[in-house]
Amino acid sequence: MTRSFVHDTLGQRIRFATGDAAGALAAEVEELGAQRVLVLAAPSESALAGRITDGLPVARVHDEVAMHVPVAVAELARAVATEVDADLVVSVGGGSTTGLAKAVALTSGLPVVAVPTTYAGSEATDVWGLTQDGRKTTGSDPRVLPRCVVYDASLTTSLPVDLSVASGLNALAHCVDSLWAPRADPINAALATEGARVLARALPAVVADGQDLEAREELLYAAYLSAVAFASAGSGLHHKICHVLGGLRDLPHAPTHAVVLPHVLALNAPAAPDAEARLAEAFGSATALGGLAALRERVDAPRSLGALGLEEEHLPAAVEAVLEVAPPSNPVPVTRPVLEQLLRRALEGSEPS
Ligand code: NAD
Repeated sequence: MTRSFVHDTLGQRIRFATGDAAGALAAEVEELGAQRVLVLAAPSESALAGRITDGLPVARVHDEVAMHVPVAVAELARAVATEVDADLVVSVGGGSTTGLAKAVALTSGLPVVAVPTTYAGSEATDVWGLTQDGRKTTGSDPRVLPRCVVYDASLTTSLPVDLSVASGLNALAHCVDSLWAPRADPINAALATEGARVLARALPAVVADGQDLEAREELLYAAYLSAVAFASAGSGLHHKICHVLGGLRDLPHAPTHAVVLPHVLALNAPAAPDAEARLAEAFGSATALGGLAALRERVDAPRSLGALGLEEEHLPAAVEAVLEVAPPSNPVPVTRPVLEQLLRRALEGSEPS
């Protein structure tokens, strides 16, 4: 087999420091020579942030964070960064908080150190997102890629189990979609396959015991692998669908991914034999879809977009919006009837077909 592809690798330092985010963060702040740190953390993340930023030269802690980064929320954080003359942004939280740090970095060029407390993976991508008037705009820019990521699993044990499941399945969606996304290549396929293998084992362990630190650490490791794969491969059909749904109805990000994933896998797997084989093996199952179904059953995954706030009347607009952005590289042609059926089944919580 001849190999012919182009693969970009993003430059970023990763510090795994279970139980010692404070030490890892202090070392990084010192190395960057920062003296006026702007800490971003949502109210439910501020206790975690307090635990690990004590002793840093903190200029301000800012807690106005919102999912999908509304432009007004970004503007406020940018104004605070200017007001305190910040020289470093430290984000402690889930994808929403990381996203806010990226919005500040996008216009200011300030370096970011990200301390993730969910499995969203935004910390390992150069993708930013902003929303205004129900429309989500995304782009990629090297300025928003955090300089360093500090992973400390002890900061994730407080994430409720249902949110952990949805967030872990969001990471799994990065893996699965990376296998057929526009820039899919053997390097990101290797990362995605390993990410899926680790997630399939660690997620049930966290459901069994939310305080299982080793399993939580495995989830962070897999979240990182999945996000690197996703950043390199780009958005496949799954991410395009979730992006449209998120913008249209402000649906919760991770649960939306968790619901849509099996439907996209059911559509694409028969036409993507390499992805099918990799995922079946990662799940330790005869088929990729069977393996995903068994995993979803074990972790009691969310099943219906209806339960998340989507209604029948939103389907036509969603179908049209996805048709506009569906990647031509998708293994199966994305037609109106195909999308109508897929979204209806996801709305109702029917079995994927
Ligand atoms: P989130 O950041 O909105 O967090 C969900 C909830 O959990 C919030 O209330 C948060 O405060 C709380 N929380 C987070 N960590 C906690 C912890 N350890 N203990 C207790 N509570 C905790 O949700 P998310 O799914 O992590 O991120 C979603 C956002 O990230 C979306 O806006 C999405 O677009 C973005 N995202 C971006 C990328 C990218 O590459 N740019 C990738 C993935 C997700």
